[in-house]
Amino acid sequence: MTKKGRRKHIPQRTCVVCRRSFPKRELNRIVRSPEGEVFYDPTGKASGRGAYLCDDLACWEKAVTGTFLDRALKTKLTPAQRAALKEELERRRALVEPPSHGNGS
Ligand SMILES: [Zn+2]
Repeated sequence: MTKKGRRKHIPQRTCVVCRRSFPKRELNRIVRSPEGEVFYDPTGKASGRGAYLCDDLACWEKAVTGTFLDRALKTKLTPAQRAALKEELERRRALVEPPSHGNGS
């Protein structure tokens, strides 16, 4: 081993919507469990096939409404599974854009 320089290997994953790659831990994992459940996996440790979404809410929006996750996970998301992911999207949106008060028209 003469080659010096230990490059830190950071696993990269691709957002299934925008196709940009990010360090794995910066992405959000959506998993399809062996039982066929599809859900957001905040721990990144749930077993099953994973698909990754970046923090861009536009990507979440498209993932929830489009077929990106269906294709990535090779399944068909049920309306309930979509609804659960939409809830996560809304939760995130609320964090980014706190509801403004006193902004009457
Ligand atoms: Zn993205």
